[in-house]
Amino acid sequence: MTSMNLLAAPIAIVVHGGAGSAQLPQPAREEAQRQVLERALKAGHGLLAQGASAVDAVEAAIVVMEDSPLFNAGRGSVFTAEGTIEMDASIMEGAGRSAGAVGGVTTVKNPIRAARAVMDRSPHVMMVGRGAEAWAQRNGLEMAPLEYFRTPERLRELEEWKARTRPGKSRSGGGVSDHWGTVGAVALDRNGTLAAGTSTGGMTGKLPGRLGDSPIIGAGTFADNRACAISCTGHGEFFIRHGVASDIAARMRYLQQPLKQAARVVVQEVLLPAGGRGAVIGLDAKGNIAVEFNTPAMARGSIDCDGKLTTSVLGR
Ligand code: ASP
Repeated sequence: MTSMNLLAAPIAIVVHGGAGSAQLPQPAREEAQRQVLERALKAGHGLLAQGASAVDAVEAAIVVMEDSPLFNAGRGSVFTAEGTIEMDASIMEGAGRSAGAVGGVTTVKNPIRAARAVMDRSPHVMMVGRGAEAWAQRNGLEMAPLEYFRTPERLRELEEWKARTRPGKSRSGGGVSDHWGTVGAVALDRNGTLAAGTSTGGMTGKLPGRLGDSPIIGAGTFADNRACAISCTGHGEFFIRHGVASDIAARMRYLQQPLKQAARVVVQEVLLPAGGRGAVIGLDAKGNIAVEFNTPAMARGSIDCDGKLTTSVLGR
């Protein structure tokens, strides 16, 4: 590290590729997932090192994971109960607290880019369904046909889900899969600005039209320079009901809890007793990192303020 770097303001990035998994990934798959996490981290960190904004870094990191069929976002998204694919994404920056989100999009190749476009180019924060698609197309975003998103593995997971769900039993929210794979990123740029983003296909077997926490600012994604940037993954209904991402930030601001403590309390002492399984990644304005999960495993990685890169798709 040069003396220039020592003097420069800290930069850092953290990504996740979902939590859950009763069965741990096969070694070959584990390695493949770690490689994608590493590419995502390097894409985001490379931009931060050149002085780009945290929002640019978050978007770039998430695009890498959306383009990989190994994660449940963009290509490789999970199926609804009706065999459709409906994707959600959101992004937020912590200086001016601008935010953008899309829900239930089916043909936008990179939903995180659409969320970014909503933030930058529309008067709104959240757009859903056909209106969001049409708007994305009009704004020049790349579109893709259903075949691009669907993978044999996700089809197999849908079949397994159907087999697990008893005939006649409501399929809404029941029998959700054990392995999730939503992606997210949080970043800190040289100006001291934080950003967070999350992108997902949701949960296997969800009802068409269901939105999870991932596109909801304050639930699945939140960024505020006065506290932290947070991206969540897990059983979305619980993350919405507990306002998880904004609760962590509020604990930091009002209770003066450090990031790690706030994340641990919310994931282990609020969510878990309520039955909410999942994980969060977080970053504060000093570059402190939090990774907290109450599931057996979580795919995550970071490049910290010292430039140290780590990835893991296992448990602790
Ligand atoms: N939170 C996402 C949702 O409920 C799923 C996930 O994180 O895996 O849609």
